[in-house]
Amino acid sequence: MLVSYDLHLHSCLSPCGENEMTPNNIVGMAGILEVPVIAVSDHNSARNLPAVCRLGMEQGILVVPAIEINTAEEVHVLSLFPDVASALDMGEELYAALPAVNNQPDIFGDQLVMDENDCVVDQVEKLLINAVSFSIEAVFEKVRQRGGVPIPAHVDKSAYSVLSSLGFLPPELNAYTIEVSPSGVQKGFVLPGEGKHLVISDSDAHSLETWSMHEPKKLEIERISVPAILERLRGEEQV
Ligand SMILES: [Zn+2]
Ligand SMILES: [Zn+2]
Repeated sequence: MLVSYDLHLHSCLSPCGENEMTPNNIVGMAGILEVPVIAVSDHNSARNLPAVCRLGMEQGILVVPAIEINTAEEVHVLSLFPDVASALDMGEELYAALPAVNNQPDIFGDQLVMDENDCVVDQVEKLLINAVSFSIEAVFEKVRQRGGVPIPAHVDKSAYSVLSSLGFLPPELNAYTIEVSPSGVQKGFVLPGEGKHLVISDSDAHSLETWSMHEPKKLEIERISVPAILERLRGEEQV
């Protein structure tokens, strides 16, 4: 079946994510936009996933547990996990690997953890957008060890991508799926050797408005489930 998806969204937990990106608003918006498969991928943290995944389950939206990891090389890796527990576990390891720099909400924005009623239950202290101390190789390994799929994010972008930070996609990562940003798709960006890869594109929305303007892409999957999506995205990668 051909299914609309958006696997890269930020909630109010990301400092750069608008506070309106609450668990209920995200799941509600996915319903309005008729996108049955989404992923909430906050920077280096999974702490809003329990609420958003539970709401998704209740409302018929599949929310794939995810984190957008910022590696030591300042490469963003969209990391999808088989379950919330694995994502939370990874998130704890990432938090310990972040520098001891606290967020300044006035400058960077709030980092809100919410429950399924959109009540703020915590605020994360360390600044989540910083790079963790793990290399991209280590991040790929840690995600795969947890049954997840690491995807080089917005590879066409001039910042925080494999191309901008490393100059190329290291073949030893065995990345099958890569993400190209919507503007990259529009400009006809092609990664050298792209034929070997599955290319996905997501909104990377930080607000409801930018999300609502995004035209979701479609993916051929066997059924709407987390294992089916991970299997499709894992493709021919060698673990
Ligand atoms: Zn990013
Ligand atoms: Zn992002």
